[in-house]
Amino acid sequence: MKVPFLSLNTATETVRTDVMKRFESIIDSTGFVCGKNVAEFEESFAALHGVKYTVGLDSGTAGNQLAVMASDIGNGDEVIVPANTFIATAEGVSMAGATPVFVDVLQDTFNIDPDAIAKAVTQQTKAINPVHLFGQPADMDAIRSVADRYGLKILEDCAQSHCADHKGQKTGGLGNTASWSFYPGKNMGAWGEAGALTTNDEGVYLKARMLRDHGSSVKYHHDLVGHNFRMSEFQGAVLAEKCSHIERWTEKRRQVASWYDQGLNGIPGIVPPAVMEGVSHVYHLYVIQVKNGKREALQEYLAENEVASGLHYPVPLHLTKAYQSLGYGKGDLPIAEQLAQEILSLPMYPELSDEQVEHVCNSIKEFIAAL
Ligand SMILES: *Cc1c(COP(=O)(O)O)cnc(C)c1O
Repeated sequence: MKVPFLSLNTATETVRTDVMKRFESIIDSTGFVCGKNVAEFEESFAALHGVKYTVGLDSGTAGNQLAVMASDIGNGDEVIVPANTFIATAEGVSMAGATPVFVDVLQDTFNIDPDAIAKAVTQQTKAINPVHLFGQPADMDAIRSVADRYGLKILEDCAQSHCADHKGQKTGGLGNTASWSFYPGKNMGAWGEAGALTTNDEGVYLKARMLRDHGSSVKYHHDLVGHNFRMSEFQGAVLAEKCSHIERWTEKRRQVASWYDQGLNGIPGIVPPAVMEGVSHVYHLYVIQVKNGKREALQEYLAENEVASGLHYPVPLHLTKAYQSLGYGKGDLPIAEQLAQEILSLPMYPELSDEQVEHVCNSIKEFIAAL
C-alpha cells in the first residue's frame, strides 16, 4: 500500500469551484494585488484566531522579517530563536539586520526550552522568537514569564500552527506579533506563495501595513524604508475560501494522529510525539523519535514498503553552514543535535485513511521486531 508523505489534491478540489469564480472576478476587475479578496482573507483569518489584525503578505519568510522590523528591532539587536526550526525563522531576524541567538529545545515536545532562553539573554536581547513547531504550541506561559522578567518582545512563528490552541487561546495572538506561512504544503496552503502577520497591537499593525508596501500609506509618500511584501489577490482568494474549511481539516489531522498514537504505542525504541498539558496540537507534522541509531535503517525499510517519510530538520540551525560565522560548534546545543539524528516525520495530511496509517505502523513494528 502506497502512503505518500503529503497530498494536496482533496483540499484543492474542495475549494476549486468557488476559487475559480473569485479568479474570474479578479481578472474582470484587473485588481491583482491587495484588493478585496486579500481584505476578506485578513478579516476571516483574524476572526479564526481571535486576534485583532492580520496583514496579508507574499510569504511566511516575509512575515518573519516583517515581525522583527515592525517591532523596531534591527542592527545590533539580538533575537532568541530555537535551534530546531526551519531556517526562515532565523533569516527573518538576519534580514531585518539583527542577530539570531540559537538556544536548545525540549526533548519531549521539540519546542524551545524556556530555561535556555533565560540563560541566553544579554544586554542586546530584544525579543524571543518561539516556533510552535510541527503544530504544537510552545510553552507560552513560561516564555512570557522570561519575556516579562527581561522586558523582551515575543514574536511567534505560527507557520506550522494554524488553529492550534494554547490554554483556550489560539496561537497568533499570544505575543507582540505572529508570522504565518501559507506555502502549499502548510496546514492551510495557498496556490503559490503567501504569508501573513497577526497582532493585537494597533501600532504594530499600522507599521506592518506600511512596511509591506514600501513604508507608505499614501502612494509615493514613503515614511519608512520598507519592502514589497504585498499579497496577490489570487492567493487572497484561495485563502479566503480555505478559512471556512481549515477547522474541519485540522480535526481530521488530529484523528490521523490519534490512529498513529494507538498504532505506535509500546513499540520499543520508538517515541511518539508528546503533547504538553493544556494545548491542542494541529499536527502539521507527525514526528517520532527513533532510538538506538536505527533511524536511517527504518527510513529505508519504510521506503521499501512504499511509505514516504522526512526529516525536520536534519541540521540544527547553529550548525548550518549559513550561520557558521556566528561561531557555534558541535556540542553547544546537545538536545537539538541529538534530535536531528533521531527524528522521523511520518506521512500526515487530513485525507490519510486508517488503513494507510495501519500500514505505516505495522511496517514500523515489523522493522523493530526483526532487529
Ligand atoms: C514554512 C516556514 C516558514 C517560512 O514560510 P514560507 O512561506 O515558506 O516563506 C517559516 N517558519 C517556519 C517554522 C516554517 O515552517
